[in-house]
Amino acid sequence: MILLDSVTKRYPGDAKPALDNVSLHIEPNEFVFLVGKSGAGKSTLIKMLTKEEVPDSGKIIIGGIDLDYVKKRHIPGYRRRLGVVFQDFKLLPRRTVYENVAFALEIIGMSGKDIRKTVPKVLELVDLSAQAKKFPSQLSGGQRQRVSIARSVARQPKILIADEPTGSLDKLTTQEIIDLLRKINDFGTTILVTTHNENIVNNLQKRVVTLKDGRIISDQKNNGIYKLDATPVPEKPERIIQAPGHALKETKEAPKVAKPAAPKITTEKITTEKITAQKIATPKMAASMSPTIKRAVRTTPRRKIAKSNVI
Ligand code: ADP
Repeated sequence: MILLDSVTKRYPGDAKPALDNVSLHIEPNEFVFLVGKSGAGKSTLIKMLTKEEVPDSGKIIIGGIDLDYVKKRHIPGYRRRLGVVFQDFKLLPRRTVYENVAFALEIIGMSGKDIRKTVPKVLELVDLSAQAKKFPSQLSGGQRQRVSIARSVARQPKILIADEPTGSLDKLTTQEIIDLLRKINDFGTTILVTTHNENIVNNLQKRVVTLKDGRIISDQKNNGIYKLDATPVPEKPERIIQAPGHALKETKEAPKVAKPAAPKITTEKITTEKITAQKIATPKMAASMSPTIKRAVRTTPRRKIAKSNVI
């Protein structure tokens, strides 16, 4: 679950806030496009989620973790629990495809034995088994992006954030990457994608959230279309607070559709870095929370949060 409650962010020296009172609730297993013109605030919103930037006001809860309580020293560990994919891939140029994925697992403390089991399965998922020994410079753009996605999903994140993942790819390759993200979504991962690609958004018919001047001007739950100048909606969309069937609940609420069997990836060892910032429901703290946050906290059992090894 991703929850932003009245989030405002203004960069020093800017006349207008980059995010202006943004409230957004994304349920587990949703596939959401975040669209908007350049400067609308998309990157800033993503940076709020990855904690590269902090809001001036408002509350952000991701997978039961209140980001206010993720201390500086825990940020790298927190980020490793999110899957993040960028337009420019950010691969290690001197490592092979296999090593790029293996490295992502090494740094979270997975044993060599488990890494040797996991990496081939993930490469199979992204259809790169035959390229395992190649270096990034020997791959096409689409293949590089698939390595980047493999690296993120190897840790089995519950949430995958992709910031313009197809921005530098041609039409055919773009479709391949989107198909892969859909497959990962089918396995139960929540996906948030920023994009300028109108065709992709319109073809997929998923939820589409549109930002303009730092505000959410439209939130189309189903069959969303790419429309950058929608009619403004109220500051705090009704659906976040009241919409029936959209209660702030954890994964139990995910739609009961038959899912393809996910490739079995070992995760037992992905518990080395315990986020200690999960104390989100003390009565004292609850007193200062808005009704939206209180509801989210109430529906997130403490024991479940403490045990969860990924977001
Ligand atoms: P988008 O990703 O939709 O293009 P951004 O989040 O990058 O939008 O930017 C939103 C607004 O915040 C813009 O007006 C932009 O100029 C401003 N902004 C973004 N990053 C910074 C920064 N580091 N310092 C100052 N202003 C920034």
